[in-house]
Amino acid sequence: MSKNKKEEIKVHNISNTRLFQLIDGEEKMVGNTKDVMKSWDILSKGNNYHTIGIIGCQSSGKSTILNLLFGTNFPVMDETQGLNQTTQGIWMGKSESSDTLVLDVEGTDSSERGEDHIKFERKSSLFCLAIAEILIVNLWETDIGRYDAANYGLLKTVFEVNLELFTTEQSRTLICFLVRDFTGTVEFPLLKKKILDNINLIWDQIQKPEQFKDSKIEQFFDLQFFNLVHKILQPKKFNKGVKQIKDFFLDKNNTFYLFKPEYHRQIPSDGLPDYLQNIWDTILTNKALDIPTQKEMLSLFRCDEIKNECFKEFETLLLERIVEPLQKDKILPELGRLMNKLFNEIIEEYKIPANRYVQEVSKQKQEELEEKMNEELFKQFTYQMKNVCKNFFKKFQKKFEKEFKDNEISLEFAKKINQLKMVIYEEFGNISNDSLLPNSSWDIEQFTLELENLIDNYIHEQKNQALKRIKKKLYDDYVNRITPELDNLLGFIENQIQFKVKGLFTSMTKYTIFEFEKYLKGMEATEEQMNDTINQFYEKAKQVVIDKFKENARFIGIHMKERFDEKFKYGENHTPRDFTIVSDLPQLFETATNEGINLLNLLKSIYLPKSLMNPEGRNNNLNLDEEEEVIENEENELEKEAEEDEEHVIIDDKEYEIQIKLYKKDIEMSYREAMSIQQSN
Ligand code: GDP
Ligand code: MG
Repeated sequence: MSKNKKEEIKVHNISNTRLFQLIDGEEKMVGNTKDVMKSWDILSKGNNYHTIGIIGCQSSGKSTILNLLFGTNFPVMDETQGLNQTTQGIWMGKSESSDTLVLDVEGTDSSERGEDHIKFERKSSLFCLAIAEILIVNLWETDIGRYDAANYGLLKTVFEVNLELFTTEQSRTLICFLVRDFTGTVEFPLLKKKILDNINLIWDQIQKPEQFKDSKIEQFFDLQFFNLVHKILQPKKFNKGVKQIKDFFLDKNNTFYLFKPEYHRQIPSDGLPDYLQNIWDTILTNKALDIPTQKEMLSLFRCDEIKNECFKEFETLLLERIVEPLQKDKILPELGRLMNKLFNEIIEEYKIPANRYVQEVSKQKQEELEEKMNEELFKQFTYQMKNVCKNFFKKFQKKFEKEFKDNEISLEFAKKINQLKMVIYEEFGNISNDSLLPNSSWDIEQFTLELENLIDNYIHEQKNQALKRIKKKLYDDYVNRITPELDNLLGFIENQIQFKVKGLFTSMTKYTIFEFEKYLKGMEATEEQMNDTINQFYEKAKQVVIDKFKENARFIGIHMKERFDEKFKYGENHTPRDFTIVSDLPQLFETATNEGINLLNLLKSIYLPKSLMNPEGRNNNLNLDEEEEVIENEENELEKEAEEDEEHVIIDDKEYEIQIKLYKKDIEMSYREAMSIQQSN
C-alpha cells in the first residue's frame, strides 16, 4: 500500500469521527491540524467558518451538550465509571451540519492536577478566547449564587485574559450561560439577574489595565442566557430545549442566530492551523499574547506561502505559454498580451486567499510576487527583443538589396535608405511595443539603439562601397571623355596648346565634379567627405593630363624632326623644296631648327589650376539658377585662377638638353644634304 493511501485512510477515519485531539494532557500540540482541517474541507472556506468553545466544571455535561448541539462525538464520561476525568487537554470537533469548529476543554475541578491545573485552565482559556467567537459557560443551577464555585473562578480568568488579549483591537465575544438541570423553582429571569450580579462583582474585582479601569463588561462581551432541564429526569423536555438552542447556533435565518460577524476572529481558514500553533506556542512560552501581532505574523507567514505557491504556478505556466513557444518560434507577436494575461491571472490567484489577511502584509507580499514575476518576464522580453532586432536587421538588408539591385548607383541613395528605415522602424516600434508588459517600467530604447547600430553600420559599409563605385564610374567617364580631346590637341600641337589644355581640363573636371556633387548630395555625404572625394578626383584628373603629355613626350624627337622637316624640306603648299633655288640656306635652316625647338619649348611643362575647385566655387556651381552667370564669369575666373596655376614638368632640363642634342644631330644631316644639292648645281 502506498504512503498516500495510508494517509488517506487515516484522514478518512478522522473525518468520520470529526474529532481530534489538538492539545494533549502533556500540553503538547498533537496531530497534523492542517491535514485534519483539509479532510473537513475547512481550509478553502476563507472566513466562512465559525468557532465555539465551552468551559465549565468537570462532569457538568459539557461534552454531552456539545455532541447534541453540533453532532460532534467528544468522549463522554461513562456513567458506570463515576467521576473520573474524561476529556484530556483540548479537543477539536467539527459540526456535523455546518462549518463550525468546536473546542472542548478539560474539566475545571480536576483534583489530580492542583497548581498545574490552574495554570492549564488559564492557558486553555487564553487559547479559547483567541479563537472562539462564542464561549459557552456551562453551569448547574445549584451553583448559581455560590460565588466561590469553580465556575466563577473560571470566569474571573476569562475576563482577565480577555483584557490581556485584546488591548488594542476591540473584538467582541459572546458568552452564553447555559444553566443545566434547571428546575423552575426560581424563575429564570431571576436566575439571570443573579448570574449578572455575580459577573459584575467579578468584573469589579479583577485587575484591569489603566485604560480599562472604568470599563463595563458590556464593552467586551455580549451575554446570553439559556437553560436546560435534567437530561435523565425530563428527557422529552430536555430534547426540546436542545433542539431550540441548536437552531440558535446553526440556523442562519433564526432571529436569534448567535454567530454575529463582529465575533469572528478574522483568521482565514487556510491560516488557522498555523495560527493555532502560533497561539499555543506563545501561550506555552508565557509571552504576552498580542493578538494583532499574532495576526500580522500569521499574515506574513501565510501570504509568503501563498506567494510562493503562486510563483510556482507562474513558473509552470510561463514555461508552457511563453518560454517554450518562444524557443521554438523566436518571436511571439503578442508577447505583451500573453504576459499581461499570465501576470493578472497569477495576481488574481494570489489575491483570493491573501486578501483575507492583514492588508498591509498581503499588499507587501503581492508586490514581492509582482517583482519576481516581472523579473522573469523581463528575461523573456529581452530574449524576444534580441530576436526582433536580428530579424529586423535581416529584413532591412533584404529590402536594401532589393532596392539597390546589381549595385545600381542611385542619385537618391540616402532618400531611399531613409524610406526603408522609416518602414522598418515603424514596424519594429509596433512589435516592440506589443512585446512590452503593460504598466511596467520597461522600455524599448535599448533595443531601438541596438537595431539602429546594426543598420547604421551596415549603411555605412554600403555607402563606402557605393562611393567607391561612383568614384570609379565618374573617373572612367572623365577619362573616356578627355582622352580623345587630348589626343586631338596633341595630334597637331599649336602655340595655344597651353591655353587650350587648361580650358579643356577645367571644363571637363568641372562637369565631373558637378556630377560628384549630385551623387554625394544624394548620399548625404558630409562636407568633409565631399571635399576629400573631389580633391582626390582632382588630383587624379590632373594626372591623366600629365600622363598623356608625358606619353606624347616620348616621341618628342620624332615630332620635332617632323616640324623641322615641314619647314625645311617643304615649301608653300607642301611641295618638296627645291634647294637649288634657296638663296639663304643658313637662314632657312635656322628658321626650321627653331620650329622644332619651339615645339619642345611648348611641351616642356604644362600649367593646370592648382585648386580650381575650391569649396566656394563648387557651391556656386551647384546653384543651378546661376549656371548662366557662372559660364559668363568663367573667363574672369580663369584669369583670376591663373595666378594659382601649377607647373607640371613634362620634360625636365636634363632631358631637354638631350633632346636638343639629338635633334641637332638629326637635322644636321638634312642641312648637309641640302648643301650638297646646292653645290652639285
Ligand atoms: P463533562 O466532563 O463536562 O464533559 O461531562 P460529560 O458530558 O462527560 O458528562 C458527565 C456525566 O453527566 C455523564 O454521566 C452524563 O451522562 C451526565 N449528564 C449529561 N448531561 C446531563 C444533564 O443534563 N444532567 C445531569 N444531571 N447529568 C448529565
Ligand atoms: Mg467532557
